[in-house]
Amino acid sequence: MAAEKKQRVPKAYCGKILNGEYSEELTNRVAECISAFQSFDATGASVIPYISAWEEGTKIIWYEFAGKKLCDLLGCPCSDIPDIFKEMVIDQRVYEYVDIEPKVQEEIITRQQMSGKRSGLRNKVKEEGAVEAVYKIALSDDKTIWFKDRADIETFDQDNVCISLGTLTDVSKEMDHKELLEKIGYFDELTKLPKRKILHRILEINLAQVQRNHLNNFVFLMIDIDHFKQVNDTYGHQAGDYTLATLAELMTLIKRKEDEFGRYAGEEFYGVSHGNIENGYAFAERVREKIEQTVFTYNGQDISITISIGVAAADEVKDFDANKLIQLADKRLYAAKQQGRNRVVSAGG
Ligand code: GH3
Ligand code: MG
Ligand code: MG
Repeated sequence: MAAEKKQRVPKAYCGKILNGEYSEELTNRVAECISAFQSFDATGASVIPYISAWEEGTKIIWYEFAGKKLCDLLGCPCSDIPDIFKEMVIDQRVYEYVDIEPKVQEEIITRQQMSGKRSGLRNKVKEEGAVEAVYKIALSDDKTIWFKDRADIETFDQDNVCISLGTLTDVSKEMDHKELLEKIGYFDELTKLPKRKILHRILEINLAQVQRNHLNNFVFLMIDIDHFKQVNDTYGHQAGDYTLATLAELMTLIKRKEDEFGRYAGEEFYGVSHGNIENGYAFAERVREKIEQTVFTYNGQDISITISIGVAAADEVKDFDANKLIQLADKRLYAAKQQGRNRVVSAGG
């Protein structure tokens, strides 16, 4: 038995399952995965494969295998990765699956929150069988690197052990850009949407493009939640906050790449979309319908809301003036409220 085990233990093995008293099922699975991951790693692919493991109930994680690049980057052997990793991670974002739509939501957590969160995260991923997270790691020479971690979790009840079969991808370029935007206060904290001052800049840029004939036309949407005060009064302010954040997520899901949504103020949002006033009306209707059909569930309470939208097109205002465009959309939003709410008003409304 011992000899049989030894044969399967690869050179430079730093894990413990292959040398420990674990079930055949787990040992075989780990041996098979190490062998496959080693071959993959040897191809020099840009993604870094790894296999980590932990025993249920303990907070101790260890690595059964780590791609060569990870050890090189962290400057440590595989056995030291958990400790070194913990030391070097300076930011972590976890992508959680939210109920309302099958999409991932980003959560930024501080380092202090991290250790507690990690075991929570492990339980969560155990249930869901997958994890997606991004870590920012400080390397020794003042450099940082962002890793995207995507892993599938397998549970071995007999051994009380979970293994995580994952890959790390360097996403420094994308994340550095995002971080810069966060640093300069681009995004609103609650909704994660661009703030009002960004809106003004976007409008100015788009209007200048229309003026120079680089862009044909575009539309501006002013969106306001109907009777939102009642949501706060009935379900509480936190439920109100949750509704605002979830509404922002839904709108982000609906939009195309070239469209933009932002938080104008309080429970008012804006939207910028390419096309003419008819396209803008159709787009606004899609958003309105989606919100009308959605139930926002907060702490077991089902909350339904509607929104009113005023739409204006760039070619409807003089002088390529951003304020005039905002005013026109605002006037139409007011008309939508006057006409009974839960509706879109565009030209002629
Ligand atoms: P209307 O249909 O006329 O728009 O009615 P309304 O109740 O939505 O409008 P009103 O302007 O009277 O109230 C807006 C409410 O939005 C009041 C305010 O407490 C709430 N609100 C604004 N910002 C936030 C926020 O960040 N979080 C929460 N929970 N509520 C907010
Ligand atoms: Mg309002
Ligand atoms: Mg309102």
